[in-house]
Amino acid sequence: MNAPSVGFFCDECSLYGVYPIPATESAGRCEHCGHENPARPSDSVNRGETVDSCPQCSNLRFYHRKDFPQQLGCAAVTGTVVLSSIAYALWDVPASIAVLVLASIADLTLYHRLSEVTVCYRCHAELRGFPLSPEHGPFDMHVAEEYEAGQ
Ligand SMILES: [Zn+2]
Ligand SMILES: [Zn+2]
Repeated sequence: MNAPSVGFFCDECSLYGVYPIPATESAGRCEHCGHENPARPSDSVNRGETVDSCPQCSNLRFYHRKDFPQQLGCAAVTGTVVLSSIAYALWDVPASIAVLVLASIADLTLYHRLSEVTVCYRCHAELRGFPLSPEHGPFDMHVAEEYEAGQ
């Protein structure tokens, strides 16, 4: 498991920043505009334990999602298509199918190995490297809509 960290969106410039846990003096300071965002991790969060409240907005509701970088997904798909075309050109159909099968196995393996990130429903702060709490589930559209409406 990676060292715990908090990813947040700056209140001032909306850009993304990260600070490590346990939080230091400069935690929450925006590296882009210097704005001091609130960084108030609870004791539990600061120990890298259960995420009980959001360090950025004190919200209590979170969801889990795979920490999957978008570019990586695109690169994997492009790479698979290119490889399978090359295999097709060199060795014909069975080889290109073999490449596709191998690639999907690799994708699945990768997917299962991706860590989960805990995300705040309100401010979308991302808490990485924390144990997943059974109280938080996968993304729930209805909960997200409540927050959108409440803003
Ligand atoms: Zn900023
Ligand atoms: Zn939050």
